[in-house]
Amino acid sequence: MNYSEKKTEEEWKAKLGLERYRILRQKGTEFPNSGEYNMHFEKGTYCCGACDEPLFESSSKFNSSCGWPSFDESIPGKIEYIKDTTHGMIRTEVVCANCGGHLGHVFDDGPSETGQRYCINSLSVAFNK
Ligand SMILES: [Zn+2]
Repeated sequence: MNYSEKKTEEEWKAKLGLERYRILRQKGTEFPNSGEYNMHFEKGTYCCGACDEPLFESSSKFNSSCGWPSFDESIPGKIEYIKDTTHGMIRTEVVCANCGGHLGHVFDDGPSETGQRYCINSLSVAFNK
């Protein structure tokens, strides 16, 4: 995938800091219930933590009790889906379509009409009112 927003790994590290770099660029996962947006339900938009592209509207956020911020849909066209077979599971990884930053995974057990549950690291996104 050829992303519009490109930087070297050194540039990303300098821009994001170690924690965000570990999640967004090295596909890390923050501890459950540790993220600042897990129980955050203000109105606004969640943007990519690496390149600032808008990814999720607060209207799609719901409390899944899974320990990470959860959304039932993304802003159309902003997400890339990648088959992930690590850790002995078949999952769908979601990354920012603009920069390739790792966001989390999407599952098809969501409680709303979309049937989707995007399970997203707080550190992968930045909230804007
Ligand atoms: Zn991005």
